[in-house]
Amino acid sequence: HGGEWGLIDLGLSRWLGSDLNEKMASHIVGYPRMGPKRELKFALESFWDGKSSAEDLEKVATDLRASIWKQMADTGIKYIPSNTFSYYDQVLDTTAMLGAVPERYSWTGGEIGFSTYFSMARGNATVPAMEMTKWFDTNYHFIVPELGPNTKFSYSSHKAVNEYKEAKALGVDTVPVLIGPVSYLLLSKPAKGVEKSFPLLSLLNSILPVYKEVIAELKAAGATWIQFDEPTLVLDLDSHQLAAFSAAYTELEPALSGLDVLVEIYFADIPSESYKTLASLNSVTAYGFDLIRGAKTIDLVKSAGFPSGKYLFAGVVDGRNIWADDLAASLSTLESLEAIVGKDKLVVSTSCSLMHTAVDLVNETKLDSEIKSWLAFAAQKVVEVNALAKALAGQKDGAYFAANAAAQASRRSSPRVTNEEVQKAAAALKGSDHRRATNVSARLDAQQKKLNLPVLPTTTIGSFPQTVELRRVRREYKANKISEEEYISAIKEEISKVVKIQEELDIDVLVHGEPERNDMVEYFGEQLSGFAFTANGWVQSYGSRCVKPPIIYGDVSRPNPMTVFWSKTAQSMTSRPMKGMLTGPVTILNWSFVRNDQPRFETCYQIALAIKKEVEDLEAAGIQVIQIDEAALREGLPLRKAEHAFYLDWAVHSFRITNCGVQDTTQIHTHMCYSNFNDIIHSIINMDADVITIENSRSDEKLLSVFREGVKYGAGIGPGVYDIHSPRIPSTEEIADRINKMLAVLDTNILWVNPDCGLKTRKYTEVKPALTNMVSAAKLIRTQL
Ligand code: GLN
Ligand code: ZN
Repeated sequence: HGGEWGLIDLGLSRWLGSDLNEKMASHIVGYPRMGPKRELKFALESFWDGKSSAEDLEKVATDLRASIWKQMADTGIKYIPSNTFSYYDQVLDTTAMLGAVPERYSWTGGEIGFSTYFSMARGNATVPAMEMTKWFDTNYHFIVPELGPNTKFSYSSHKAVNEYKEAKALGVDTVPVLIGPVSYLLLSKPAKGVEKSFPLLSLLNSILPVYKEVIAELKAAGATWIQFDEPTLVLDLDSHQLAAFSAAYTELEPALSGLDVLVEIYFADIPSESYKTLASLNSVTAYGFDLIRGAKTIDLVKSAGFPSGKYLFAGVVDGRNIWADDLAASLSTLESLEAIVGKDKLVVSTSCSLMHTAVDLVNETKLDSEIKSWLAFAAQKVVEVNALAKALAGQKDGAYFAANAAAQASRRSSPRVTNEEVQKAAAALKGSDHRRATNVSARLDAQQKKLNLPVLPTTTIGSFPQTVELRRVRREYKANKISEEEYISAIKEEISKVVKIQEELDIDVLVHGEPERNDMVEYFGEQLSGFAFTANGWVQSYGSRCVKPPIIYGDVSRPNPMTVFWSKTAQSMTSRPMKGMLTGPVTILNWSFVRNDQPRFETCYQIALAIKKEVEDLEAAGIQVIQIDEAALREGLPLRKAEHAFYLDWAVHSFRITNCGVQDTTQIHTHMCYSNFNDIIHSIINMDADVITIENSRSDEKLLSVFREGVKYGAGIGPGVYDIHSPRIPSTEEIADRINKMLAVLDTNILWVNPDCGLKTRKYTEVKPALTNMVSAAKLIRTQL
């Protein structure tokens, strides 16, 4: 890596590189499918709406795939993935490949087409969709396979082979990517009617024959490499599960002979036992590790050794974030690994699929240019991987590295990143606890004296239906098409409408309906310092749904009150208590792209301090009930159990920081979008909120079992009494029945009655009758107490 090369490279490397036509050892684990401007989303939705044909959809998809392959090939990437595209989800694609279609879709065999595929993904007029769940600790959701002893497997989607051939026809030889057989089974669940204890891994020998067929076809089509994604290898696995890996890849050995086989493991460190298992597999010739989330993996490779003659795909470029790589740091990591695995056995790669980051920075024309220089989206990360690979091969692009170093230096020293005051305030939090001085039952007594609520008080979670008209008002205000006065009066009118409806319904604790908010994180991020926003920084969440997380680039502070004006306005319209409505620090953190130059908890504490100011301003403005939503607290739970306690400790502490300073008479609520609490119930109690409202309506049993098992809960609790995710209107009897079920395990004086989440996605024609029945049910039961 001599300086001379750097000099020559200044001008010549680009054409010299392509002239030599020798690609450096570079690899991309996977790439976003949606397209730089969400082309696939719009094509899918138009197809689902019947506005375009299957051919139209296929054309968009083919063009997207072609442009991605071409871009990687032009950049110089050697190992380019195929079959990382999906019309919905890669796990569902695997289900299709295996022909593991649940019976209720009445599929009769043959190649699985759009109709069966999208029915599984989204349901159809007569049959509900398959369940969806989070992909590890990302914000991506996959379709959970439903398997049982009677599931029949047959090779039923040739997508992997077709995509390989499609790329080849374009002149790009790719590495076809499959979800590995063991991860596939470990991510599935027993089908309806199958015992919960059914050993899913017992199906291994039933699915491997299909994998063999796929491998044989790929070989016949000319593939020389194959990639199996086996991310479950980062989880806490028992010896039985690990044995399944050995068994699977031993069984596949003859089929795989002649191929180079890459097993990709991402999202955390690989535990040493799993590493040992993996390293002993003959059929596997390459290992891909996430060196960002799995920072300890390098030490493991160093201490445990690396199997000789095999490849290490070093995931140094972060696939989960939007920051430009620190190329100099990565290069030195790579050099130290090269010393262990050998020069021709090290491949530069991304930490995981780039589908978890935004697509292309090129489309961010409005982003501040200094901040932009600190960022890299998927398209830019491909260039980074290639530049690192070339540098490792002695062809360092000096100008590119110099520009990167300058951007890194500017990010480290920029006054926009550092705010001394915030740093000091956050540092001062350390080592001490923050919680309200009085215990929760004494506080509830003090609050009740002021609020004077009936038993089983009724409330809602915050948002009311977001109409087309409302969205138009916000959009036009943002675009300066209407004046501030016009905007304020339109929002005020909406709030007064929402207040009136709630008074008519006779709800006890009101909300203002959140008409001024586009999104519960973006609304706050836009008013806090240290946040930036993109125009096209979309990341797939599930199916055609994408989210656009804010970027936290600097120390977070709150220059001005964010919600006080609206809450005060709303409170002035009613004599009933009006809830102040905030998003909590952990949720803001977990739904943003977070800076990587300090630990996550430091950023979270800073956000907590900003929200604390808002809480105190709301209190000073006469708001007596303040709800701090922590919808995403559970999502941030680390993948490995050993790391749970640390996360929960700082997350819960952050929440308490926001409200430790209020008077006993101020009632703090929180809301969470999960009822799956059994394992974190003690942390929830430790949040020390006065009232918690939670999503529950789809799983009474799970939630209530916690209390039945004797967990003492003294704070107020409002398990959702009906499901707002469905347009169905619950009857009074049905709701009353649920309340009675809850009363069987919870004290009467702590139970609240509310829907399970915000109402913004519903229509007024659904919300009004549903809330009417909810209030009637509460009143009915009050008379029976
Ligand atoms: N207060 C928010 C609302 O009602 C909460 C949303 C959520 O929990 N996801 O919309
Ligand atoms: Zn919710």
